[in-house]
Amino acid sequence: MPKDDILKPSGGTLSASGAASVGGADPMEPFKARRAALKTKIDELPALARLSAVRDAAENVETSANRVADLANKARESGYAWEKDLEPRCLDYRRRWQELKPQTLAALEQESAALTNRVTQVTYQGNYALAHATTPANADKELGDGEKAVDALTNQAQAAAKTIRGMFDKFQTDLDALEAHLNAIQKMLERAQQSKIAWLPGEALVKLVPAKWDRSGNDDPRGILYLTDLRLVFERDEEIATKKVLFIATEKQRVQQVMLEAKMSEIENAQASKRGMFGNEDHLDFTFSGAVNTPSAHFHIDGQDANEWQGMTQRVKSGGMESTRVVALSDAEKQRLKNAPTKCPSCGSPLTAPILRGQTEIKCPACGTVTRF
Ligand SMILES: [Zn+2]
Repeated sequence: MPKDDILKPSGGTLSASGAASVGGADPMEPFKARRAALKTKIDELPALARLSAVRDAAENVETSANRVADLANKARESGYAWEKDLEPRCLDYRRRWQELKPQTLAALEQESAALTNRVTQVTYQGNYALAHATTPANADKELGDGEKAVDALTNQAQAAAKTIRGMFDKFQTDLDALEAHLNAIQKMLERAQQSKIAWLPGEALVKLVPAKWDRSGNDDPRGILYLTDLRLVFERDEEIATKKVLFIATEKQRVQQVMLEAKMSEIENAQASKRGMFGNEDHLDFTFSGAVNTPSAHFHIDGQDANEWQGMTQRVKSGGMESTRVVALSDAEKQRLKNAPTKCPSCGSPLTAPILRGQTEIKCPACGTVTRF
């Protein structure tokens, strides 16, 4: 803080004349912070004028658009049977980005060229101010002139960045949401692969959630509640102490055991409730009929909305999920996708973007040629 520095006992304004040479108060001390700030802004001008941050963001969009396609492919390979529009959605993002990209890049080039043209002049003005602000008498005026020039260009660059960002901001937000959704699916499928459940032929996982089965007594099992197109299954999955010394577990063992399974037709009712002091606990009550080993079960689920579970259970039970089920790929279709071109026939550029089911054409990112396959 310059203002404090000037009052420091070691320097003091009274001894200013000779003190500077022996490490006392520098009369320019109050301007130090301002000089440093101006210097930093001058240093940042070239990158700011290049609109580097927006350029990086635009590149990230392209990477992301390919990543969601990879994730969609991976989800299918892992057996994800729902949301048959996943691949069309990914292809649509790619198509929309191909439309947005040229105008975004054109705006980037145009704006950054205009801004960069002014960097040399404005940097000179800033440095001129730093070089000439040498006395307390002229520093305020000199630095002020430099700051004015640098701030004007900085503000213009920021405004340009904001405008160009606005061209694909919404697109990127939506794409990010799709990617987060696909990552959640992947995580779910990987979690299910750890299960010891004997899956039925063709059984397709819909949802899973960490859950505690609330039963009478205080030995509630913890594990994972699974909803598939055929069943509701609770698998206990927890570490339990196999040896205790003075109440402290010294040996643990992972226990995985299916404790409840009900066919869809055996689920009579699913009821969600919000509990806890702030209504932030999610609970589910099921009632069963038929051969299920319990007439009802109460679960405290962790990290997901109970209402969504209630809705999804009813949807599976009523057959409402079937409209979103993906059709199995025929061998011919698999072969067709496998044989998709990897090089642009027009310019020879490699075509590296992931191929998605349903895809019938590729647009070359280099020359724009559309190749059907
Ligand atoms: Zn090409």
